Amino acid sequence: MVALRDVRNVYPGGVVAVDGVSLRVEEGELVAVVGPSGSGKSTVLHLVGTLDRPTSGAVEIAGHDVATLSDRRLSALRAGHIGFVFQQFHLAPGVSALEAVADGLLYAGVRRSVRLDRARAALTTVGLAHRMGHRPHELSGGERQRVAIARAVVGKPALLLADEPTGNLDSASGAAVLDLLRGLHAAGTTVIVITHDREIAARLPRRVEIRDGRLTEVPA
Ligand code: ADP
Repeated sequence: MVALRDVRNVYPGGVVAVDGVSLRVEEGELVAVVGPSGSGKSTVLHLVGTLDRPTSGAVEIAGHDVATLSDRRLSALRAGHIGFVFQQFHLAPGVSALEAVADGLLYAGVRRSVRLDRARAALTTVGLAHRMGHRPHELSGGERQRVAIARAVVGKPALLLADEPTGNLDSASGAAVLDLLRGLHAAGTTVIVITHDREIAARLPRRVEIRDGRLTEVPA
């Protein structure tokens, strides 16, 4: 699903955020990328999510070499294959859970009625069937993150990337979100979780540690 080969990413100003990283994630894996703040986690997520291109090295996602794709083809790859979940939820104020999740299908080329049907199904999957009409300020943090997860997976992406998905949550809500990610993995989605939290990483089947832009596999 994901292959990084000797990837480097240098930001303007010369910060080497990712320093010669190679990583393979097979279809159906659930992987934690764990490391302290500033170690390069978000940069790795941006590269795997094809939001950035590396300074050098190769990034292959779902069999596509990112370097050979135009920006338009890259957007299509992202829209068709990758879902994103962020620490800050990124839900628009005033927009109901149902509308927010249905918007996750805006570029899928399906009718509004179908978008709403699929959004209802996704919200039911994340345990929010009773909150579909609620707007973000009417939801708890854990519920907001579950809406964000429903939005990320409503298009059935093969790959789900979660950047500190429990970072803004109390431990009970965080555990529920982690269970949800595990459930998506059990249903066949490839999931990569970025976290600084070793306890969270310890609860996932595979861990990769990042430090100063370099990865090491943590033995199981
Ligand atoms: P993490 O997600 O682990 O906190 P990041 O990938 O955000 O780490 O950052 C890795 C390094 O790259 C840090 O030293 C950070 O300051 C630097 N960095 C991140 N984004 C930028 C940017 N847009 N421009 C310059 N430096 C950046």
